[in-house]
Amino acid sequence: MECPKCYGDMDTVHEAETKVDRCQNCRGLYFDQLTQALLESVMGQAEAIDSGSDEMGSAYDDMVYVECPKCDKIMDQRLIEEPNRIRFELCPTCNATFLDAGELREYISPEFLDDFRSLLPER
Ligand SMILES: [Zn+2]
Ligand SMILES: [Zn+2]
Repeated sequence: MECPKCYGDMDTVHEAETKVDRCQNCRGLYFDQLTQALLESVMGQAEAIDSGSDEMGSAYDDMVYVECPKCDKIMDQRLIEEPNRIRFELCPTCNATFLDAGELREYISPEFLDDFRSLLPER
């Protein structure tokens, strides 16, 4: 499939409870859907799934309008500024989620995890 953020080619890097595609260009991650329950299933694989560098992700951080490939609608911004900045795109219709490179590893670290989880739909 095509990266919803930079239109690069994507490879499937995880296929279990949810499917994850990684962009060959920006290394961003597209989750077929991501919920609080599904987060548990990808957390153990985060190092393998999210292999892009933070610097790479930051380069695309300012691109805020990401269209859901399934619904053709602009995805919602999910955002918390304090105590740590978390920002990512989530489709309110189908729960598809896009994370920039490095964000999965960052957001599941202890300082971020509770807030990140609270931004995800329960199921
Ligand atoms: Zn991309
Ligand atoms: Zn959608």
